[in-house]
Amino acid sequence: MTTHKDLIDRDRKVTFHASTHLRDFAHGDAPGRVITGGKGIKIVDKDGREFIDGFAGLYCVNIGYGRSEVAEAIYQQALEMSYYHTYVGHSNEPQIALSEKILELAGPGMSKVYYGMSGSDANETQLKIVRYYNNVLGRPQKKKVISRMRGYHGSGIASGSLTGLKAFHDHFDLPIETIRHTEAPYYYHRAAEQEGMTEREFSKHCAAKLEEMILAEGPDTVAAFIGEPVLGTGGIVPPPEGYWDEIQAVLTKYDVLLIADEVVCGFGRTGSDFGSHHYGIKPDLITIAKGLTSAYQPLSGVIVGDRVWEVLEQGTGEYGPIGHGWTYSGHALGCAAGLANLAIIEREGLTANAAETGAYLQERMKAAFADHPVVGQVRGVGMMAALEFSVDPAARRHFDPSLKVGPRMSAAALEEDLIARAMPQGDILGFAPPLTTTREEVDEIVARTERAVNKVT
Ligand code: PLP
Repeated sequence: MTTHKDLIDRDRKVTFHASTHLRDFAHGDAPGRVITGGKGIKIVDKDGREFIDGFAGLYCVNIGYGRSEVAEAIYQQALEMSYYHTYVGHSNEPQIALSEKILELAGPGMSKVYYGMSGSDANETQLKIVRYYNNVLGRPQKKKVISRMRGYHGSGIASGSLTGLKAFHDHFDLPIETIRHTEAPYYYHRAAEQEGMTEREFSKHCAAKLEEMILAEGPDTVAAFIGEPVLGTGGIVPPPEGYWDEIQAVLTKYDVLLIADEVVCGFGRTGSDFGSHHYGIKPDLITIAKGLTSAYQPLSGVIVGDRVWEVLEQGTGEYGPIGHGWTYSGHALGCAAGLANLAIIEREGLTANAAETGAYLQERMKAAFADHPVVGQVRGVGMMAALEFSVDPAARRHFDPSLKVGPRMSAAALEEDLIARAMPQGDILGFAPPLTTTREEVDEIVARTERAVNKVT
């Protein structure tokens, strides 16, 4: 019989893993794990060890694991018609129905959906749309895109440039020339430096920084601003009060398009269908992935708003068919999975559950950790939460990074059979369990987290 160890040893010889210490893994100095199944909010490895997945994979398995209904939908579609390209007007039935559903959820002002396979490629599409848009409008110099420090938008050359995390730039010569990063809406960190600011004042400060950057670059060179409604991989940071209103006022003033990266927030995570709805954001373009299929198939998308769509149409009128497309755009199996997934989210009221049970998650986390001696902040929204550790919470002082407090907390949680993610920058433990999570499961997540945190401190 193949043992877990055998599998990991074979894996070490042949696989280049994402976000992994390549040498340590290849030479057996870093652990591996082979996941063989999952049900509800739990996953199981080759040894039969079960974990609560407090991060829903990479905040993507919104409906939980082991949904045979989605597997069945993929299977039936594969039997009928697994693939045909969607170039030059070809389509498939699930693609049409899924686009209708996405536009219904997105609400007024949104016109069309373009499909890809990952959040990263969807953001590459966004950047191409933004360039094309300004070329059609006769503004070839309006091409720069402003993102935020600590934003996460993927790890390609362009999408990785949009990302504002050091580890994704260093040694790859990123960001590319046309991308800029402005202040992160991180009140907890910055309030210490900007002593005495209210959240609202800090939001105004972020908007002023953005305006300063637009003016310094020249408004006629700035094409778009991209942001996640809730900063995700940068630390699970809900925006400070009034942030999006302030930012949108600046963007409107300088005719800068707004791209809402809803890869994490979309499809219920914040307790609303989209993070944009939650925070009153009116984007021109929306990026979706993850919760669109709950990762039962790789599928992403770009939702194009009316204003941009009109210009794209005008452009093809002038230049001919658009020079953009992937072999797998609108893949029938991905779209079938997306439809089955969104049907479950709707039928089971999972967005409402993310709001209600999510509020319970926030409450329980605060009760357990707000006064903890090494917890600086407990924060979150919907089914997304974070603990930020601090050596001196009153002074908001960070631990020395060499102590690796975040990764040690995550490792301690794993010993409790709980997956909680050490976020890549800072000592932050992130939680984003499936939207199906119940109150009892929240209690269990919090209890295991308490044991883990107390073990490290
Ligand atoms: N955008 C956001 C907000 C994300 O969180 C991610 C991934 O975590 C991406 C884009 C990139 O998606 P992918 O990893 O599917 O390329």
